[in-house]
Amino acid sequence: MVDCHAMRESMTLLLTESLDRSRREQTHEHIESCAACTAEWNAYKETWSLLGALPELDVPARVRDQFLAEFATPENVVAIRRRSSARWLAQAAAVVVLVGGSYYAGNRTHRV
Ligand SMILES: [Zn+2]
Repeated sequence: MVDCHAMRESMTLLLTESLDRSRREQTHEHIESCAACTAEWNAYKETWSLLGALPELDVPARVRDQFLAEFATPENVVAIRRRSSARWLAQAAAVVVLVGGSYYAGNRTHRV
């Protein structure tokens, strides 16, 4: 069985289509059968589409590192590096901001 925590990790990768086929299907199946993950997934997708409408922005290295530290397994890091899209990282980091909340708040005064 898969657990919800693992599914949350898969969601960010699902958004970027970085999952292999079997894992993608497994994640979708879990989302459909789990109310908590359905709600989480809807929030991810909503955020993602909002961010997709924004212009590209630079991702501070610390935010990117934070993202990798929190969400990436060694296997996933390989996938992320292969794609190496700044826009992708911006979106992914912003999802982390949404989820992590307080992390970005501390840096905000510098960036605005
Ligand atoms: Zn779940």
